[in-house]
Amino acid sequence: MASKDPEIVRLVLGPYQTNCYLVICPETRVALAIDPAVRTEGIMRAAQQRTARIEQILLTHMHPDHIAGVAGLKEATGARVLAHRLDAELITSQPVEFKPAMQTFGIQPSSLPELLPDVLLEGGETLSIGQISGTVIHTPGHTPGGVCLQLGHHLFSGDTLFAQGVGRVDLPGGNLEMLLQSLQRLFTLPAETAVYPGHGPSTTIGAEKEDNPYVR
Ligand SMILES: [Zn+2]
Ligand SMILES: [Zn+2]
Repeated sequence: MASKDPEIVRLVLGPYQTNCYLVICPETRVALAIDPAVRTEGIMRAAQQRTARIEQILLTHMHPDHIAGVAGLKEATGARVLAHRLDAELITSQPVEFKPAMQTFGIQPSSLPELLPDVLLEGGETLSIGQISGTVIHTPGHTPGGVCLQLGHHLFSGDTLFAQGVGRVDLPGGNLEMLLQSLQRLFTLPAETAVYPGHGPSTTIGAEKEDNPYVR
């Protein structure tokens, strides 16, 4: 269980308006960056303004709009990168469908190895950010290796769950049945859990359980 509330900073980055989050331990100023979409400088400036030190980078999944800034941010901070094993495998196998999208974000096939995580997740891991700790939840469906991070009553949901929406399942590795199962898993969390998605505004588990048109 998280003993303290983290400071949460949202940065909206890149052509797909991806939410990048900084999660900062108020006691130690240690930070986790989630989904460094682009523009390492913007993320670094946001951390510096808050005297936060980025020690880890979590990729909720490995779509180009969530990972284009990862190599730069890792180089600038020395942080270790965490992502689910199945998405790392998806990237390595490089389905042809991904190539144009990767190039839109300035990622060349030759730079793919730089994007690979230092820590391969399976789901269920405990992740510590200074004095705060949370749990990685494997939520396949949008991609095979999608993960959410639960920190007490905060949930970072990537492209699995949005305010009034869910992740698309028509991209390589997408699976509707799995997405619905993942959503059911998330809906077992307390209703007051705040949800911070990969795109768009924040919401709560309770609001989405009630109102989300995709989960009837
Ligand atoms: Zn995605
Ligand atoms: Zn996305």
